[in-house]
Amino acid sequence: MDLVKRCVVKPGSKLHLRDHDPSDTFGVRRNDAALQKRLDRLSELQHLLYADKRYALLIVLQALDAGGKDGTLRHVMSGLNPQGCVVTAFKVPSAEERSHDFLWRAHKAVPERGDMGIFNRSHYEDVLVVRVHRTVPKEVWSKRYGQINDFEQMLNENGVRILKFFLHIGKEEQKRRLQARVLDPTRNWKFSPADLEERKYWDDYMKAYEDALRKCSTPWAPWHVIPADHKWFRNYLVAELIVEALEGMKLKYPPPMADLSNIEIV
Ligand code: AMP
Ligand code: MG
Repeated sequence: MDLVKRCVVKPGSKLHLRDHDPSDTFGVRRNDAALQKRLDRLSELQHLLYADKRYALLIVLQALDAGGKDGTLRHVMSGLNPQGCVVTAFKVPSAEERSHDFLWRAHKAVPERGDMGIFNRSHYEDVLVVRVHRTVPKEVWSKRYGQINDFEQMLNENGVRILKFFLHIGKEEQKRRLQARVLDPTRNWKFSPADLEERKYWDDYMKAYEDALRKCSTPWAPWHVIPADHKWFRNYLVAELIVEALEGMKLKYPPPMADLSNIEIV
């Protein structure tokens, strides 16, 4: 089965999130051993990416509150060498960040060639949260889709491969997870009353996400809708898509710097 085809947002297509079931598992059966094998493969590929040094891989993770960004990160990173992988979490912009263009902080965090970089939230917040809460006028945010596409194209032309994942949870599943945060003493530090406030804007967020995914899924930086109610499936799918993307790069170990045939280590 072609997993990419099932979840990639085709450039120029009319995406409707209501047509995507967040509890879907694409007919895949849970198999933790197979999952572990993919993580091992991911680790090999990361090593190759690092050695090859022609490309960087940038992964963008977006989701609503309790959508599973942190869990996905923990899972996908578990087999990676921390030396070649940088995670950046994008929060409410600081005063310094606000005094620059909205892409400034994202650009600074783009991984160098040989590395993987993961954005936990991203420059897309500037067409999501700011649109939903009307903190910037429409004339400003509506121009950003094109600016984002140009930015991502420029990165791609400079060796940065980009994969974007929207972790799609259902409204009921969000309720269960927020409830768990309230009840579980090991998780309630994660609960923020602001999450309940945000939940009231669910429909507005869905519209804003649909627009972002429709307008900014491009051949050089595709969006994927990840059914994310089942954590194991979300983890499996994200790992699989990253492995496939890395395999598609045809990475190679560089040749040795010198003729090694006569080298003797004494
Ligand atoms: P969390 O990811 O739960 O730690 O929360 C980070 C918060 O920062 C979320 O409420 C985001 O919506 C908010 N945030 C991130 N980027 C921006 C931005 N560019 N403008 C406004 N709020 C943002
Ligand atoms: Mg949060």
